[in-house]
Amino acid sequence: MSKVESVLGPMETSDLGFTLSHEHIVVSSAGIPQIYPEFIQREDSITEAIKVLSEAKDEGLDSIIDVTTLDLGRDIDMLAKVSKESGVNIICATGTWRDIPRVFWNASVDSVATLYKREITTGIEGTNIKAGIIKVANDVGGVTREGEVILRAAARAQKETGVPISTHTWAPDRVGEQQVRVFEDEKVDLNRVYIGHSNDTMDIHYLESLLDKGVWIGLDRYPGGRTMETPNWEQRTDTAMRLIADGYGKRIMLGHDWSVRLSIDSKEGQTSRSKYNPDGYLFITRQVLPRLKDLGASEEDIQNIMVDNPRRFFEGGN
Ligand SMILES: [Zn+2]
Repeated sequence: MSKVESVLGPMETSDLGFTLSHEHIVVSSAGIPQIYPEFIQREDSITEAIKVLSEAKDEGLDSIIDVTTLDLGRDIDMLAKVSKESGVNIICATGTWRDIPRVFWNASVDSVATLYKREITTGIEGTNIKAGIIKVANDVGGVTREGEVILRAAARAQKETGVPISTHTWAPDRVGEQQVRVFEDEKVDLNRVYIGHSNDTMDIHYLESLLDKGVWIGLDRYPGGRTMETPNWEQRTDTAMRLIADGYGKRIMLGHDWSVRLSIDSKEGQTSRSKYNPDGYLFITRQVLPRLKDLGASEEDIQNIMVDNPRRFFEGGN
């Protein structure tokens, strides 16, 4: 028996079930949900999240990993309420995304690691809700000086607490390789590291060389294809199938990087988002998995990527 912290308390990893590996409920910025809740229509967002996640639950979704950090406007009370009312388990994150607080830029690695550790071992925002994952982010331009502080802090918190790391990368520039170099330097067990947003590239050599290092890979942007530079959803699914065919089916996970609402209080914005992805958190269930099966994936392959891999990732075994 192995446990993972959810926003409703510790749960058995064997109860995670069908899991989306990188999602959000609402994204904004640090302090917005608490100080300017009207900007994200906080109450409406909660109602909407409960509605769409309840629907997703009816279609087989059991758990999501919500990798929203402080600087993405994490709102721990919102996550707990949405999980309780929808019945979907939510694993929440400590760590830092791309908007690294200015006060961290010249902070010592250990002092930032101490903050992450507190959210893992004691609780978040005055609650006893604990983080089940450590999120870090590096994007276009790679690992910056302040980005490196965050990566090293995450590495040290990982080693002391055993909680795994989930990264945001910019795969077209192979940023995952830079992250792995820092984690190797910090002597993190790469089996506890998930390199996310890896399906923004179709460079199979990049992906397989990362997997050969021992990390997990998140194919966690769907549908994608909003810009010419990144693959569309069919191409992303071809990449998933290629990795399965090449023997990596036990090391990959899928997610959307979806959220019910953006921080911009714009009706137009929400309409164009629902046109872009009318299925929301169900896009993978309704579109990607049937296509993967058409391409030759077995039921066992689907069970691995959606159920067993997230469970094994949290358990830390091989
Ligand atoms: Zn994300």
